[in-house]
Amino acid sequence: MAARKLDGVACAAIIREEVAPRVAAFAARHGRPPGLGVVLAGENAASEIYVRNKLKTVAAAGCRAELFRLEGGASVAEALGLVRRLNADETIDGILVQSPLPAGMGPTAEQQVFDAVDPEKDVDGFHPYNVGVLVQKRPALVACTPLGCIELLERENVQIAGRHAVVIGRSDIVGKPMALLLMHRDATVTVCHSRTVDLPAMARTADILVAALGRAAFVTADFIKPGATVIDVGINTLTSEADVARLFPEDHRKRIQFAAKGSVLVGDVHPDVEAVAGALTPVPGGVGPLTIAMVLRNTVTAAERRAAGRAASGG
Ligand code: NAD
Repeated sequence: MAARKLDGVACAAIIREEVAPRVAAFAARHGRPPGLGVVLAGENAASEIYVRNKLKTVAAAGCRAELFRLEGGASVAEALGLVRRLNADETIDGILVQSPLPAGMGPTAEQQVFDAVDPEKDVDGFHPYNVGVLVQKRPALVACTPLGCIELLERENVQIAGRHAVVIGRSDIVGKPMALLLMHRDATVTVCHSRTVDLPAMARTADILVAALGRAAFVTADFIKPGATVIDVGINTLTSEADVARLFPEDHRKRIQFAAKGSVLVGDVHPDVEAVAGALTPVPGGVGPLTIAMVLRNTVTAAERRAAGRAASGG
């Protein structure tokens, strides 16, 4: 039987509706809408699309959403200068620095720039303060993609407490916060990565499997316990006809899309998993829309908390 589709598009629409009155209330009370500043450095086709979608969604909800561009050849000092300017801007409540930063900025650029974002405005939840607070299960601005995965699981009534969750991937932006959020909801969590021995066997013990490794269709049916819930975080662009033909039968809509566009998006989960899993997120239309909805919600949350902080301090 085909897995139940966990519909990220529908879930994200509900979250946007929930956030709308909070945006209106903030604007009425403070005479301005919540504000998001997005920093985009250099030219990267995928980043352009992600940033455009984030800005569009946040603006459509009634917030101010502004793009701040840096040239591809910009220095870390310039990026830090821009972040400090946004930190000081009282009308900006959320700051998001789109990853990756240009390689020319050097290997430590992302860490330096993420660390420079005011933790109160850190809508990506990447600042070490917010990561630490998340570890301690205190209210934090949490990374948008794992937070979106949890929203989807909870709203689709997937039981988390007491279940075994396996997260494939240990990145700071997806795998690690995902594992923490699942643990905080009383799942027993195993984190797997590129050095895990016998990954398929480990994955097969999962009631909830989160695939966040960035390898197209890597997670095949033999990774899946029958009936498991599978969250496919991966976004991979296939541009080779042979790869697409290997994964999808001739009449599959992905083959038709490829013929029209010359590329197609696939997740980290192989199409065959649909026959074994109990529930599964599609790519696109699964985790992606939730990530963007969480950027919006985190922006509004940051705005509300900053305003509450000012009120508490008499400001
Ligand atoms: P990353 O490259 O930083 O981390 C990948 C992780 O996967 C690493 O921890 C690595 O140990 C593990 N890994 C790599 N190869 C493996 C293998 N063969 N076996 C087991 N583990 C392996 O990537 P990331 O930033 O965490 O992103 C992961 C995927 O999620 C990417 O496809 C990315 O595009 C996607 N992503 C999607 C969204 C969204 O909104 N849907 C947001 C962020 C990232």
